[in-house]
Amino acid sequence: MAGRSSEFDRIDSFLKPLAAGFQGALGLVDDAGVLTLPASESLVVTTDAMVEGVHYLAGEPPERLARKLLRVNLSDLAAMGAAPYCYTLTLALPPAVEDDWLAAFVSGLANDQAAFGVHLLGGDSVSTPGPPVLSMTAFGRVDNGRMVLRSGAQPSDAVLVSGTVGDGALGLQVARDGVPGLDNAHSRFLAGRYHQPDPRICLGRALPGLATAAADLSDGLMGDLGHICRASGVSAVVDADRVPLSAAALSMIALEPRWRKVALAGGDDYELVFTAPRDAVAAIRAAAAECAVQVTVVGRIVEAEGRSPEARMVDADGTIMNGVAGWQHF
Ligand SMILES: [Mg+2]
Repeated sequence: MAGRSSEFDRIDSFLKPLAAGFQGALGLVDDAGVLTLPASESLVVTTDAMVEGVHYLAGEPPERLARKLLRVNLSDLAAMGAAPYCYTLTLALPPAVEDDWLAAFVSGLANDQAAFGVHLLGGDSVSTPGPPVLSMTAFGRVDNGRMVLRSGAQPSDAVLVSGTVGDGALGLQVARDGVPGLDNAHSRFLAGRYHQPDPRICLGRALPGLATAAADLSDGLMGDLGHICRASGVSAVVDADRVPLSAAALSMIALEPRWRKVALAGGDDYELVFTAPRDAVAAIRAAAAECAVQVTVVGRIVEAEGRSPEARMVDADGTIMNGVAGWQHF
C-alpha cells in the first residue's frame, strides 16, 4: 500500500470502517454526525492534539500513536466520571506520509476502540505543509449533574491517587535515552507506561457521589493537584513518602537517587488524582478493588488561609520539596 491516495479516498478507505456500526456517524456519508442522548444524560467533551516534534518523535510506530491519542482523551473523560461514547478525529499530514502509515494508524485505533467500546463519529484527513498534527475530540456520557469537577475539594478531604506515579516521566527517559543498568523488564514496563497509558475509566465511573474533585495526571501529580486546588480555592499537602511508586521506578531510583524527584514531579501517567471526604475512602477502596486498580491516600486538603491556593509536597523530615511542581513536555 505504498503511495498516497486522495483525501477523499483516504476518508473512504481508512476512516469509514472505524465508524461502521455506530448509528450516529451515519456511515460518514452526511455533512455531520448526530448524537441523541436521553434527557437524563449529559455529554462530556474533551480534545487533545499531538504534534510531531512536540508530543512525539518522528518515526514512532503509528499504531502506538493512535492508541495514545485515544487513551489520553479517554483519560480526560475518566477524570470527569463519564463513560466513553465516541470520538472525532482530524489528521493533518504532510504529503510525504504514505497510505501505509495511515493504515497502521487506523489499525491501532480499531484495536483500541473495540477495547474501550467507542466508535468514530466523524473524521477528516487533510494535507499540511507543516509537521503532522493528530487531533481527537472524545465524547462521554454521564448522568446529569453527576460529573466530577475540579472545583469541589473541601478542607479535611483526603487526597488520593490511582495506580503508581512517575512511571510516565521515567518511561520517557527510558524511551528517549535509555537508562544504563536498569534491567530489561523494568525498562519495558516504564517505556510502556509512557507510550501506552491505561485510562482509569472503571474507577472514574465509580467516583461520582464519592469524590469531591478529580483530574487525570498529565501535568504531574503536583501540577494537576494544583489545578484542583485553584479551582476549589483550597490548598493540598502531599506526603512524598506516601506517593506510590512502581517496582520499576524504585529500581531506577536505586540506580540514581535523582530520579526520585523526576518520579514525584511526574507527568504523563494518566492516573487519577482526586479528593474525597475521609468517610468515603473505604467505599472508594472497594470500588477501586472492583476495577482492579490500587488507590492510595497521599495527603489532605487544607484551608488556603488567605494565601494563593497551592499543592505542596512535604518530605519525611517535614521540609517542603521544591522542583516537583510541574511537568514540561520535551
Ligand atoms: Mg486532563
